[in-house]
Amino acid sequence: MPKHSPSQLDPRSPLVLDTRDLPRRPGALRTVKRVVPAPADLGVELIGVPEGADLDLDLRLESVSEGVLVSGTVSGPVKGECGRCLREIDDSVVVNIQELYAYQNSTTDTTTDEDEVGRMQDDLIDLEPALRDAVVLTLPTNPLCREDCPGLCPECGVHWDDLPADHSHQQIDPRWAGLSQLTRTEE
Ligand SMILES: [Zn+2]
Ligand SMILES: [Zn+2]
Repeated sequence: MPKHSPSQLDPRSPLVLDTRDLPRRPGALRTVKRVVPAPADLGVELIGVPEGADLDLDLRLESVSEGVLVSGTVSGPVKGECGRCLREIDDSVVVNIQELYAYQNSTTDTTTDEDEVGRMQDDLIDLEPALRDAVVLTLPTNPLCREDCPGLCPECGVHWDDLPADHSHQQIDPRWAGLSQLTRTEE
């Protein structure tokens, strides 16, 4: 089997949009509203959409001369960990999608790079790469449980919220500790 065979899109896959009933006439419109399970690893290191969680697709597919323009929003729950105190974060994310998918063998298809403009596979559009990019751009790389999260005391690891205002640790330098012992024996 060739190593880089282009994977065939599966029209039943939740993030594959089927445009068969969208006329290839500029201006023709179709809306896609559906709830699909989130794919694995949708997010960044500390926060992301749990696999299988409900993703709400609210999209508009519009025929343009060279392909189909997909725009709209995708929203879903996110779970993560506060970058300062490691508390669990339960939130939601809404991302905007606006992506052009060129018809196969259209001028756009033959004159642009696949990184610039998406490609259709016959009548199918794979939404997943654009969705991943949008989610990664939207989610914070350093998520916080709340904006002013004070984090943890570096000495004892307790959340500053749970510590008294005057919380501190006696810093005993081991050298001074030795010295004080010395003084005691001299006494
Ligand atoms: Zn926090
Ligand atoms: Zn402490």
